Amino acid sequence: MSDRTTRTPRLVAVTAGQRLSLGERSAAPPPGTPDRKDLEEATRTLLKRFETLQAAFYADGRKALLLVLQGRDAAGKDGTIRTVVGACNPMGVRIAAFGPPSTHELSHDYLWRVHQAMPPRGMIGVFNRSHYEDVLVVRVRGLAPEAVWKPRFRQIVEFERMLAENGTVIVKCFLHISRDEQRQRLQERLDDPGKNWKFRLGDLEDRAHWDDYTGAYRDVLSKTSTIHAPWFVVPSDDKRVRNFLIAQLLVETIEGLDPQYPRMDPAVAKAARGFS
Ligand code: AMP
Ligand code: MG
Repeated sequence: MSDRTTRTPRLVAVTAGQRLSLGERSAAPPPGTPDRKDLEEATRTLLKRFETLQAAFYADGRKALLLVLQGRDAAGKDGTIRTVVGACNPMGVRIAAFGPPSTHELSHDYLWRVHQAMPPRGMIGVFNRSHYEDVLVVRVRGLAPEAVWKPRFRQIVEFERMLAENGTVIVKCFLHISRDEQRQRLQERLDDPGKNWKFRLGDLEDRAHWDDYTGAYRDVLSKTSTIHAPWFVVPSDDKRVRNFLIAQLLVETIEGLDPQYPRMDPAVAKAARGFS
């Protein structure tokens, strides 16, 4: 069954303590990932399955699912939401995007705004950036001293464990793009009037800190990938590969939960018999 053509391609969770190189090139997709020509069709099939599963997940209502999307500028967080998450019923989805915290948010602990954005049971929550910015941009840009951000790795692991133990299934994706691909995508944002609005000067400042972010992401992945909230590194230079792999991850995650439509309460069924 190790035949390249028959094995189910699967992202493998980062193991605790694993130090990934996160080199210049975005990693190769897992073995068995369909060829370019078959990718779109395979993704369409997966997304249909995702839509069906999500309907049952919503009706079941016993668990919540949180998908955390992290990555550098132009890594494809928005595109993943549009193409992959957008394939299911929006009624069951809650998207939260995290930018620089407001004065009000800063007057609370950094997890306060995150906790409020958590999906309730039955819902899929998607974080476009997340509490991980509090150990990424905050660290790289020196927005808080090390004595403040360092303990956050432990705090985040504990916070996520609490969430998992209380009914939220958490999967976290690092959308890994290469430096070259980011340059091209940022250039497109400059050249295409329809994309200008996405470009901020801060993007270039963050790009100038490329290696610092690499180091910060390496720490995030090695220190905060756990059984209850694993990280997956998604090769994202090719959007179709990225969409396929995240669709696959969502399908497998929800399948693993085996969502069921609730049975009709016999008393209700009886009372409703022969209604007119
Ligand atoms: P974007 O996701 O490209 O729309 O930009 C959001 C910006 O908000 C990014 O530059 C993030 O680094 C920044 N951001 C998100 N969370 C935080 C945070 N906790 N502290 C400071 N900056 C943040
Ligand atoms: Mg940006």
